[in-house]
Order: sequence, then C-alpha cells, then structure tokens
Amino acid sequence: MHFIDLHRQYDVIGDSVKQRIEKVLSEKLFIMGPEVLELEDELAEFTGRKYCLTCSSGTDALVIPLLAFELLKTDAVFVPSFTFFATAESVNIAGATPVFVDCDETYNIDPKKLEEAIIKTREQGKLTPRGIIPVDLFGLSADYDKIDIIAKKYDLFVLEDAAQGLGGEYKSRRNCSFGDVSATSFFPAKPLGCYGDGGAIFTDNEKLYEKMRSIRVHGQGLSRYDNVRIGMNGRLDTIQAAVLLSKLEVFKSELLAKNKIALKYTENLNGSFKVPQIPEDCFCAYAQYSLLAKNERQRNDIVEGMKQLNIPIMVYYEVPMHLQTAYKYLGYSKGDFPVCEDFSRRIFSLPMHAYLTDNEVEDICKTIKTF
Ligand SMILES: *Cc1c(COP(=O)(O)O)cnc(C)c1O
Repeated sequence: MHFIDLHRQYDVIGDSVKQRIEKVLSEKLFIMGPEVLELEDELAEFTGRKYCLTCSSGTDALVIPLLAFELLKTDAVFVPSFTFFATAESVNIAGATPVFVDCDETYNIDPKKLEEAIIKTREQGKLTPRGIIPVDLFGLSADYDKIDIIAKKYDLFVLEDAAQGLGGEYKSRRNCSFGDVSATSFFPAKPLGCYGDGGAIFTDNEKLYEKMRSIRVHGQGLSRYDNVRIGMNGRLDTIQAAVLLSKLEVFKSELLAKNKIALKYTENLNGSFKVPQIPEDCFCAYAQYSLLAKNERQRNDIVEGMKQLNIPIMVYYEVPMHLQTAYKYLGYSKGDFPVCEDFSRRIFSLPMHAYLTDNEVEDICKTIKTF
C-alpha cells in the first residue's frame, strides 16, 4: 500500500499527461511556454485571485513575496512552530527573523497566542513585527477572520502558506485567496502535485505581482538584460505546467473523494483516537489525515507495527520549529510551546489519497484499532 498513490492516479490521468508532454516536446518551449501561462490563468480563476505567478517550488513561493517585502534582520515574521521547516526557513532566506507561535487543536496557528507573541515582541523592542505566515496545515485553512483583525491592528502583512492547502475552503473562499499574498507547492505529494518541484504565488495586488514577477527572473526590469533588483531563477518549467494542467482536470473530484474517505476514517476511529477537528465553515483539502494517539508510546507502536503490516504511517511533525537545531540561535527551549510539543509526540498520519478503496479504508481502521 502507498501513503499517497501516484500509480493509481496515473492510471486515470496518464493518457492526458502523455498527450500534453508530447505537445511540449514537439514545440520545445521548455521555459515559459504557453502551458505555464495557461496554468497561471486557470489557478487564478480556481482560487479567485487576480494574479497567479508559478515558480520553482513551494519554498520559493514563500521566499519571493518575502524578498518583495524587503525585510531586515531585525524584522520579525510570526510563524507557527508546528509546520514544515520551509515555512520558517523562507523568513531567514529573505533576511529576516522568525518568531514562533504555538498552535491550537486544529493544528494551525493559535490566533490568541499570535497576538500575545506580537505584543511581547514589541515590548522587548529588539525586533520589529512585520508580518505573519499562517499555514493551512494538513489542508485545513487557518482562521483568517481572526488573523486579519490582528494583522490590521498591528499593521502586518499576511502571507498564506497554502503548500498543503490548495483546494481547501474557509467560509466559501478557497485557500490561496487569503492575506496579501499566498504560496502553494506542487511537490508530488501535495494536494496538487507535479512530477518534480514546483509552486505558485497568488495576490490581488498588481504592484506586488509585478515586483514578484521581476524577482522570479533575476530582478528583471524593462527587458531581459535590464536588472533592477536582486532576484533569482525561480520559474516553473513548461513540462511541469503541462502535468499540472492534466491533474487539474481531476482535482475537484479527487478532493471530494478524499473528503469521503476522511469521513469514513472519522466515523470508524472517533473515540479510539483524537480525529481531525474541522470547523463547520471549512472544507479540508486533506493533504494529510492526522490522528492523536494517547501517548508517545502508543504512537510509536502504531508507526512500527503498521509498517510491519505494510500499511505506511507518517509522522508530521516530530520536531517543532522552535526545537530544531537550526533555530538554536533563537534561544527557545522545551516547554515554550506545550500544545505543539504534545502533538509532536502523539501525532501520526494515515494513508490518504483519492484512490483508496472502501476495503482498504476498513482494513486500515480495523488494524489500527488493535494497538
Ligand atoms: C511542502 C511545504 C513547503 C515547501 O514546499 P516545497 O515545494 O517542498 O519547497 C512549505 N510549507 C509547507 C507547510 C509545506 O508543507
């Protein structure tokens, strides 16, 4: 069994993928070919954003907007501690300093603790609060109404990290439409994955869009050899765009299929484990279906035991950001963020993709209940 089954997906989309890649191979416009622009148009429409800018990875989709904000080392960007490393790392790459915040029972940044962290940072006076990067962890939107109020109150930018969130919804708005700018990833295992690395950035702000477009290609100005700022080589290639156009054709039905599977998991496992807490006004993209075990020992028994039964279980995330070696220099210690530290000891994720059969779901539930 696969944790995310790209083989079964390929059985469905393979012909379309081959056709589109063949077209790219015959036209040979490998960089910024027509598929890239077509994909950007489709994604802008899908998310309800004015502008979409594809790029080379989810990490670069975070770095490019942060570079556009022209941050200083003394600028603080507030980031959940319970996330993938790239959320925080992008802040450092852009030259600023991440300030970590604990999560709540949705696994997303806790708005109350976010405001406390902003106030504390202002009082300490070493760093200047500049922005927030909420993460749509496991496919569930962060609480954007509350985050927007805080961002306005303290004059902070909001960069939505929707690397796991594309396809999810919050109060009838799709993820990648929140805050000043949003980032997603097309890493193969994400909700919408390509066959390599890729990402996209979304905004409604024309000036920001133009600046990020320039950063994406070496700080380009009016022409190719006019460089007006320091940028990078951050483009998505045409073959990956072709793959994504094929995957977009089945994306909505995959999201619905994953939600049906999540419902079955939850019906079966509620009571045995803590199931995902999805607020009523949210639609989850289910990048992961994550459960909490009673304690660390039960979690580790499950991970080991299920592996032996050929059912892959993953742990996202074993080490919160504030306890990562790379962030030792920030001076955090164990106990600083008790909620995410507790989750990191008890959390585990079940196989989750649109092509799981009813029998497989039942089998997984039955097996896991024996632990
Ligand atoms: C995967 C991921 C990223 C980085 O995306 P890449 O395409 O792997 O660079 C950033 N943030 C989160 C929350 C992610 O899950």
